[in-house]
Amino acid sequence: MCADGRPRASSAASDLSPMRTEPAPRFRDRAARRMTGRAVVPPYPSRVDLHTHSRRSDGVLEPRELVSAAAAAGVRVLALADHDTLAGVRELCAAGSPDLPLTLLPGVEINSVAAGIDGLWEGELHILGLGIDPDDETFESVLDRQRRLRETRFAMIVERLRNLGMPVDPSAAASTAEAGSSLGRPQIARMLVQAGHAESVDAAMKEVLARGKPGYVARQGIGPQAAIAAIRGAGGLPVLAHFADAPTRRDLVAELVGFGLGGLEVHYRHFDADTVADMATVAASLRLVSTGGSDYHGDGESYAEAHATIFVPDQDATSLFEALDRPLAASTFSPISTLGPISTLGPISTAAPTAKSGSGVPS
Ligand SMILES: [Zn+2]
Ligand SMILES: [Zn+2]
Repeated sequence: MCADGRPRASSAASDLSPMRTEPAPRFRDRAARRMTGRAVVPPYPSRVDLHTHSRRSDGVLEPRELVSAAAAAGVRVLALADHDTLAGVRELCAAGSPDLPLTLLPGVEINSVAAGIDGLWEGELHILGLGIDPDDETFESVLDRQRRLRETRFAMIVERLRNLGMPVDPSAAASTAEAGSSLGRPQIARMLVQAGHAESVDAAMKEVLARGKPGYVARQGIGPQAAIAAIRGAGGLPVLAHFADAPTRRDLVAELVGFGLGGLEVHYRHFDADTVADMATVAASLRLVSTGGSDYHGDGESYAEAHATIFVPDQDATSLFEALDRPLAASTFSPISTLGPISTLGPISTAAPTAKSGSGVPS
């Protein structure tokens, strides 16, 4: 089930100095804008999802459940990209895992701290590492440090909530966490709902835990340049995730390209159609691989429901595997590589997206 082939060696950037501050204009309005334009209408159910989360970070499904749900929805190339951990990927890739008709691409998401860059949502740039070598020890040590910083932040938020009169019981999250799992705010948001302090995970994230809200604690961790270098060093493709400001901040994206950025998440569940078109233009002009995914976490929706609202073209997976210099196994992705045009693959629905979707708050 796991993608074949060892990751190619790559030339990681050696300079890990903090990213320089650029005189960026303020785009807070655009960074925080709601997507109200034309919805993306999937021309056929996506067979590609390159951005998902499991319980090994802040998703709700076990890795096995996620993969099964994705396969059942018709996904044939799936990247599990938990925050700061490859624990789920390793479990799925372990010998003896039952086979499923999809290719699993090892992935990770690093919420890099972009201090000094003005106007970013929560002061972060999220970098996906797609096609990571899950056995790379140097990369694992980077992730291990990130996870320890997450634990510290988690404890600080819990303490802050106690002082705010919104106590939560963190033992449930801690007791069910597998070794190598990472903690994040969505777990705290769920505890706030459980304790009756918030009506929904969405509300807890937006009204209590987001930057500028009383329960916010700033993230600690590596910056975008270091994240990109670490991902390259482990053979993965660094991809800038859900950065809707890319069309107006092309210079910033170009600077990241200078550090080794290789892809841009063009197709994202919460992008409207015009944003997708603008993102595609940026990706093409900077020669970045276009990728896409659901960013599924699982709060208040099934995978199938999330899947129905995204469209990630097959070409995204094809281009990604080309960039990784790896074969896209015919047995698991045969519809594209051997069966020809999509129209030969059987019934293709033109289901319009449903109104329901996740919080829209990337985590
Ligand atoms: Zn994500
Ligand atoms: Zn993210």
